[in-house]
Amino acid sequence: MSDKIRVRYAPSPTGYPHVGNIRTALFNWLFARHHGGSFIVRIEDTDVARTVEGAVEAILDGLRWLGIDWDEGPEVGGKFGPYVQSQRLDKYKAAAKKLIEQGDAYYCYCTPERLDEMRNEQMKNKQPPGYDRRCRDLSVPESTLKWMSGMKRVVRFRTPLAGKTAFHDIIRGDVSFENSTIDDFVIIKSDGFPTYHLASIVDDHEMEITHVLRAEEWLSSTPRHLMLYKAMGYKPPEFAHLPMLLGTDRSKLSKRHGSVSIIEYKEQGYLPEAMLNFLSLLGWSLDGKTELMTVKEIIKNFTLGRVNSTGAIFNIEKLDWMNGVYIRDLKIDDFSQRVVPFLERDLPPDVKRPLSLDYIKKIAPLVQERVKKLNEIAELTEFFFIDNLEYDPNILVAKKTTLETTKVILETALKGLDELPEFSEESLETVLRPMAEALAVKTGQLFGTLRSATTGSEVAPPLFQTMAVLGKERCMKRIKEALAVLDKAKDKTAG
Ligand code: GLU
Repeated sequence: MSDKIRVRYAPSPTGYPHVGNIRTALFNWLFARHHGGSFIVRIEDTDVARTVEGAVEAILDGLRWLGIDWDEGPEVGGKFGPYVQSQRLDKYKAAAKKLIEQGDAYYCYCTPERLDEMRNEQMKNKQPPGYDRRCRDLSVPESTLKWMSGMKRVVRFRTPLAGKTAFHDIIRGDVSFENSTIDDFVIIKSDGFPTYHLASIVDDHEMEITHVLRAEEWLSSTPRHLMLYKAMGYKPPEFAHLPMLLGTDRSKLSKRHGSVSIIEYKEQGYLPEAMLNFLSLLGWSLDGKTELMTVKEIIKNFTLGRVNSTGAIFNIEKLDWMNGVYIRDLKIDDFSQRVVPFLERDLPPDVKRPLSLDYIKKIAPLVQERVKKLNEIAELTEFFFIDNLEYDPNILVAKKTTLETTKVILETALKGLDELPEFSEESLETVLRPMAEALAVKTGQLFGTLRSATTGSEVAPPLFQTMAVLGKERCMKRIKEALAVLDKAKDKTAG
């Protein structure tokens, strides 16, 4: 075995990639990159019934989105391939055969019905659950006869009945399990597929994995794996079980705490670099206080010595804050480009596509400071893209003014704007600011009415910049439409 560090991320394609699972991938990757080792992706698809179509793609997309690249695995290959367990069945069969031949495993013919009955009985008698080892001592002829009669069978590991299995976990320290608490677990299922336990140890050995970094929930599987390593005559890797992810209420992170698939975060408009920074702090820290770090800094400083054993809290408010910081930090061209797919997706269908990047570049500075996620942008900027606004007369009339005054404001503004040779932020300000005094209204009232008339909304980016981007023609047209709406409203009150 080489001295080089080799770690793996071994997802089961049974659903969309949960953030906790991606955190495991990230920590493996950071560990490999910090030590100049290899990061391997292996697809553990031996649970045929639970395999979900499209899940492998989603998992790989999630990694790619975050910039987590793999040295060996699906798509890139490698000298230990294939990296998909369903294509490696012969290796698990050979391992099971060896274990049977040396007496470390045996065929079990117990039917699912019998196992159900056994479990019910155990529950009734308050006994610990686990296989009662009925087939453990079947003789070879007895076993063969059952097989010949057409019975289905699985292969079980012959767990030692006494003694302890102990190991050192890099994060948790010394851990020990009584062998008597571990039953004769299945290693090959009746469909001929291996269970996770067998496939995992065969592959970790064959792929020369040096360190297994995985979620805490697998800690109790580790003694089984160590027993298998021993029986196979393999040297086990080192283990590090990563802390569990918790919601802010300190219960295990789940759907209840909001979205959990990495793809959903992508779709909501979190930036991958913010997400990576945030995920890296779920269980690891540089010094207990530094929050914002580039991926380079994280790689440089990532050691298992700074991974906690206690649960890590997933705080979405912190993620939102961090994402806002990363968004504000983007150069305007970069920000504009990242906004494009969100606008393409979220603007109303009648807005003509493809959108103009040059136009988006003009709008982008007006919203960059104001959003925490890119999916907020379409709603904030929709009025820049649609042709016809729908006015609510109530928002056109600013607080403490009348419909009449509002009309005067809009009519006067129209006159002023028409005269303007160029429609820039500065020239708009020069004309509009003194207008309030001339009309004896507050600037807030004047600007409020103009904002509502040109954007259709009371909340919008800074007025003069907004109007400059909209352009003279569109602003004048909108103000005229707003006036028409006010006229109609007046007729109604009069009538
Ligand atoms: N396939 C397992 C999972 O889905 C891998 C566990 C391990 O890393 O050993 O998490």
